[in-house]
Amino acid sequence: MEIIHSPEEVQKKILAYRAEGKTIGFVPTMGALHEGHMSLVQKARPDCDILVMSIFVNPMQFGPSEDLDKYPRTLDADSKLAERDGVDIIFAPSPNQMYPDGYSSTVSCGGITERLEGAARPGHFDGVTTVVLKLFNITLPHFSVFGQKDAQQALVIKKMVRELNVPVEVVVAPTVREEDGLAMSSRNTYLTAEERAEVYKISKGLQDALTRFQQGERNAEVIRKSVEDLYKRAENFTTEYVALTNSECEDLADIVVNESLLSVVCRTNSSGTRLIDNVILT
Ligand code: AMP
Repeated sequence: MEIIHSPEEVQKKILAYRAEGKTIGFVPTMGALHEGHMSLVQKARPDCDILVMSIFVNPMQFGPSEDLDKYPRTLDADSKLAERDGVDIIFAPSPNQMYPDGYSSTVSCGGITERLEGAARPGHFDGVTTVVLKLFNITLPHFSVFGQKDAQQALVIKKMVRELNVPVEVVVAPTVREEDGLAMSSRNTYLTAEERAEVYKISKGLQDALTRFQQGERNAEVIRKSVEDLYKRAENFTTEYVALTNSECEDLADIVVNESLLSVVCRTNSSGTRLIDNVILT
């Protein structure tokens, strides 16, 4: 496995692989790898000759009061995990290599990017689409794997690829969870012991909602409120939003349809950790 920092070098290498007819798979990450990230690698591995993972904490997708500085950076441990699961190339550029002095180009997709995470984190999705298009242009993959954990992000990337005619297949892989149901996240390392003991309730709320749906409940407000009520009783976190939308993140009427997306964001009270999760009602 190689670790390459230079965008030009990795692009040149991959152009050569493509000229030999090799299939390129790509998994973009911000590092601090966990088994959620590795499930994307495991999904990609059998379908490509060369598997590229990027590790880049992208400043452009963080708001001014967010956790850019404290976001964990653990390249040594990440390389071991990547090697374990057969990554061929880690692309780990510096912020300056991605955004040199004077950089000013942005990719902005409308519509879906204004809702949910887009409304809660202004500018976030412009940062995501800009970096992902840059990463696609640098690593030239045939396909790229994203996590359902960030459901809206995956939809935004699919929209960008569709509307800008980007020749990359976007694959979405299921959310990987801890034993108690908590969705794995690099940000879970911020949690205090008390918070960690209670945040399983975030996924429990989603699971309970899924059970209600499967038992026949179709009233959107009833389902949404049942989740909110469970969260309200928590002592260590507060709710930022509980949103029921259709599978494209568009507002629902009052009736929940098959494959509706139930998205939640909570913030823990002591460490201020923002936790995101979702379930597809089906
Ligand atoms: P991040 O490093 O948080 O930017 O995530 C990189 C990729 O890993 C994104 O496509 C995420 O959706 C995905 N991912 C993060 N956590 C999980 C998880 N628990 N299960 C599956 N995919 C995940």
